[in-house]
Amino acid sequence: MSEDERASGHQGRAKASGGEWTPTFCRLCEACCGLEARVVNGEVTALRPDAAHVASRGYACAKGLRAHELHASSDRLLTPRMRIAGRLEEVSWERALSALAQRLLAIRAKHGARSIAAYIGNPPAFNLPHGVFLHGLMRGLGSTSVYSAGSQDCNNKFAVAQRMYGAPTLQPLPDVDRAGCVILVGTNPAVSHASLVSLPRPIERLRGVEARGGQVFVVDPRRTETARAVGEHVPVSPGTDVLWLASFVREILRRRPPSGRIRKHLRGVDELREVVEDFSPERTAPATGISPERLNTMLDAYLGAGDRGQGACLYASTGLNLGGHGTLAYWLLSAANAVSGNLDREGGVVAPKGLVDLPRLMHRSGLGMRQGRSRVGGYPLVMDTLPAGVLADEMLTPGEGQLRALLVSAGNPLLSCPHEARLREGLSQLSLLVSVDLFINETAELADFVLPATSFFERADLPVAAMGFAVKPWVQLAKPLSPARGEAREEAWIYRELARHVGLPLFGSRATSFALDLLARGTDLPGVSTTFGEALMHGVLTAGGVTPPRLGRHPHGLRLDRVRAGDLLGKRILTGDGLVDVAPADLARAAPRVLTLALTEYTTRDEGLRLVGRRLKLSHNSWAHSAPGLARGRQGRCVMTMHPVDAEARGLVSGDHARVTTSSASIELPIVLSDEVMRGVVVIPHGFGHEEATHLTTARGALGPNVNRLAASGPGTLEAFAGMSRLTATEVQVERLPPG
Ligand code: SF4
Repeated sequence: MSEDERASGHQGRAKASGGEWTPTFCRLCEACCGLEARVVNGEVTALRPDAAHVASRGYACAKGLRAHELHASSDRLLTPRMRIAGRLEEVSWERALSALAQRLLAIRAKHGARSIAAYIGNPPAFNLPHGVFLHGLMRGLGSTSVYSAGSQDCNNKFAVAQRMYGAPTLQPLPDVDRAGCVILVGTNPAVSHASLVSLPRPIERLRGVEARGGQVFVVDPRRTETARAVGEHVPVSPGTDVLWLASFVREILRRRPPSGRIRKHLRGVDELREVVEDFSPERTAPATGISPERLNTMLDAYLGAGDRGQGACLYASTGLNLGGHGTLAYWLLSAANAVSGNLDREGGVVAPKGLVDLPRLMHRSGLGMRQGRSRVGGYPLVMDTLPAGVLADEMLTPGEGQLRALLVSAGNPLLSCPHEARLREGLSQLSLLVSVDLFINETAELADFVLPATSFFERADLPVAAMGFAVKPWVQLAKPLSPARGEAREEAWIYRELARHVGLPLFGSRATSFALDLLARGTDLPGVSTTFGEALMHGVLTAGGVTPPRLGRHPHGLRLDRVRAGDLLGKRILTGDGLVDVAPADLARAAPRVLTLALTEYTTRDEGLRLVGRRLKLSHNSWAHSAPGLARGRQGRCVMTMHPVDAEARGLVSGDHARVTTSSASIELPIVLSDEVMRGVVVIPHGFGHEEATHLTTARGALGPNVNRLAASGPGTLEAFAGMSRLTATEVQVERLPPG
């Protein structure tokens, strides 16, 4: 029986009492877990894990299982709003789009196209047409000022990939299911399910490493949920990953210098050796807290996997990315995987192509690879986007190109970017602020126009992450399960219509606009709210050799070919000479000085405290709190965790309220004591800060302050190579607040 025949044995829609269970998938994070949705009278009333799903096989987390509460929330924005006499009044789409188009054209005429910017939140990463049409609108307006949440997430990884492999999306991913050793750095997949890699059922898969006789290490300042579930916890001082990774690379090069087949695919090994040579494990240990013995234990396991014929991999996420040296640290991590022979190796790190070869496509077209720097601070573009950490300064600093208008798409920069107060000041000085979102969030409250978008149950989607960022990729076409609520429209529709009202072609190209119009007219769906998305996705599927009818026979997902080791080196590396550059010139040049400064800074620290963030099981960035199940579960849980010895030194006991202060701001919250965090570290979850939101009546129940208020923004405060916000490893002062 063929795979198609087996799959078609499943019922696409299974009758259930009180409705039908329809297969779909979650679009909250990269895992894209399979779900079944109970649909009653066109409404999603319940979700359950899809036991027949090709990838997640009956797994879904508490957040995903409550996603329908976001869709059905009584706080949903259902009608376009326009600020009239100081109030956000309901208006028709036609009135909103006409008035908005006029304002955009007036600003463009007076201040130039560059004065109009867009900020893209995280959800477009799960909605292919959203990003395409937003970029199309911006290009149509003639503006290249696009900011994204990537600088609070993973832009450092794109910056490294561009330098080492020749394209930002050429991302080698951990082949966890075949690895003999996995070292996790600043990542807690038990809760976050990893980032920039689709890894459903993460703990089960990590336990599989141990079951094969391998080892797992969890390098983190906190004994995380992952560290409690699997492997060995290796405490590390916040912000010092760049140092222990320099020692790690040094020891690999000393013990096992690359040779033979591996060596011939690498460029810059000698330069890399020169960079790390001075950073012995003995020298970095006082700063990192990782003793030379501990480092050697990890090295033994990492290199020992190869001796047993297995691959090994280092994998990192936001703890490393946002710690102040994200690009340098991720370069060293990637270099370790390369020089140890684990790049393009089974059980090491392997690079997927995706349904269509996105890295090559981007390399050929230049998409995502534009050169340029921010007007303020001179930070480089990454994936054609500017760092959000200079957004406020770009609004507040006079001169040519000063931002006058901002279009926020599925984002809440006030809560997710650093330094809320400074950003609020910038936003309030804009001539035009637009928000396209499910809710009137804190940023939208300041806006002149707030436009209602559809939830993911109201549109068609492909699992972009599972297709392009998975070692075992799969594809599934999720159909709309519910009609759009109220006047909500897909972002793709909104941006196309806005371009039409502005009178400028998408992407600045009449031919492209015409083709997109044809695409829209060529479908037989009524209206336009889902037309573009589905048509575009059918095009992508067909280009990738998966016909929509074939996919229709796989309602629980269709497995694509597993990423093969040996498919990258000498074949798909996109640097000029086809070699992996393990010592990119600008990084190698800067590294010795940065490493030396970091060594001094972290070795000589006194009894001060450093802040690290975390995600809670029932939270998801700043936007999911309008699901009642998530807000309720979070009440009272935004607490700061600190080590009992640090608390005692400050006269604090569990349950006290504390004021946490940086040079940017103060926040107040309760504390709990736990030895799960290292001494010298305090841990505060992110995603809170809705207490004063006027229009988020459910999210207001998730009590707690916005930790990102404490972070600095502006020139000189961001990481140099990708403009990453420094949201972790920040120095803080903590003091007890009087009771009451
Ligand atoms: S792990 Fe991610 S994709 Fe899976 S259910 Fe949870 S939020 Fe959704």
